[in-house]
Amino acid sequence: HARRLEGVDKNIWVEFTQLTADYKAVNVGQGFPDFSPPSFIQEAFCSAITGGASMHQYTRGFGHPALVKILAKFFGRIVGRDIDPMEDFQITVGAYQALFCTFQALIDEGDEVIIVEPFFDCYQPMVKMAGGTPLLLVCQKSTGPALSSADWVLSPEELASNLNPRTKAIVINTPNNPLGKVYQRDELQMIADFCIKHDIICISDEVYEWLTYDGAQHIKIASLPGMWERTVTIGSAGKSFSATGWKVGWAMGPGNIIKHLKTIHQNSVYHCATAAQREYDTFGTEDSYFKQLPAQLHKKRLRLAECLRSVGLEPVMPQGGYFMITDISSLQVDLNDPSTKDEPYDFRIVKWLIKEKGLATIPVSGFYSPEHRGNVQNYIRFCFVKEDSTLKAAEDIIRQWS
Ligand code: PMP
Ligand code: GLN
Repeated sequence: HARRLEGVDKNIWVEFTQLTADYKAVNVGQGFPDFSPPSFIQEAFCSAITGGASMHQYTRGFGHPALVKILAKFFGRIVGRDIDPMEDFQITVGAYQALFCTFQALIDEGDEVIIVEPFFDCYQPMVKMAGGTPLLLVCQKSTGPALSSADWVLSPEELASNLNPRTKAIVINTPNNPLGKVYQRDELQMIADFCIKHDIICISDEVYEWLTYDGAQHIKIASLPGMWERTVTIGSAGKSFSATGWKVGWAMGPGNIIKHLKTIHQNSVYHCATAAQREYDTFGTEDSYFKQLPAQLHKKRLRLAECLRSVGLEPVMPQGGYFMITDISSLQVDLNDPSTKDEPYDFRIVKWLIKEKGLATIPVSGFYSPEHRGNVQNYIRFCFVKEDSTLKAAEDIIRQWS
């Protein structure tokens, strides 16, 4: 095998998705809705399929023209500038491939990339596969009982701590998976000042941009002065419209950066499914699903938190996204599965929950680098973008086991 594969073969989704299926566990683990997308999206998809021969054939490799035009108009209003539909987007197979193209296009052998822990797990292996070195910064939990994702803070000292001439980029994720942290304007400004001062590119993963609660506001770092020029913003139609299986995502940024992502894309995937790019013609025009979904999720979030509290667990209230982490150190569980004895405690608990209790969650240390997992073994992640019946089934299990 190629050397670039060394140390990147393990993947929590591969492992826990399989285990969840094997044990037919109630799934509040992997982040996808178990309900259908809104009907206007389904109808648009159907009309794309019956809408003529061209929808079944290749389209423009960098993105179906109608889609990039809509995205440019839509995000142009949000970022507060003219966005060029043809130059400033690459449409990808989900946000996942947008991230992959970004690292491949911008990171050279030996370049360093700052990743803020906890992070969506693919950043580290993707940086390594591009030949880069991940520089891990910890988003610290402030002292005292942490009850909100806002309690995790990235300090300016931490940010500047490992900077060196090979530091090329920083990856941020707001709202964050798994914490639910939504970066506030002053935190984003601190990161922006840092990027501008040291000539660093910002890769901003914003796949949960529409999901914020209790008045938290999602801000695009690309909208801050001087940041459009150096930011690649990653988005996901799958996450935005509850259609994760269609795998439509994008990278948005200045044409002089995006053109390099296009080179990676044209030499690998080349082209994403045409019909899957068509249904988003309704982007932003409906009585906005971007408002309906968070309103619906807000209730599910409170319901899950209530359930966890009722059994003595202390959930960390997320300001955004569709995940909730909770400390499980108070649980007294007799873990006698020898097959997991060398694994972090949260991995062991999650496996025990799947195998013995039929409940699937995700261990939070999976969102830390393997080197740091030992220090963060007491949290598991629940996903609440699920039918009420699924949440009820999860609640029944939690109440019984505790
Ligand atoms: N970034 C984050 C933070 C995610 O949680 C996910 C979830 N899959 C992705 C990127 C990838 O999104 P997509 O399904 O559009 O590939
Ligand atoms: N983003 C989702 C999660 O965090 C799914 C990840 C994946 O399937 N790779 O659960």
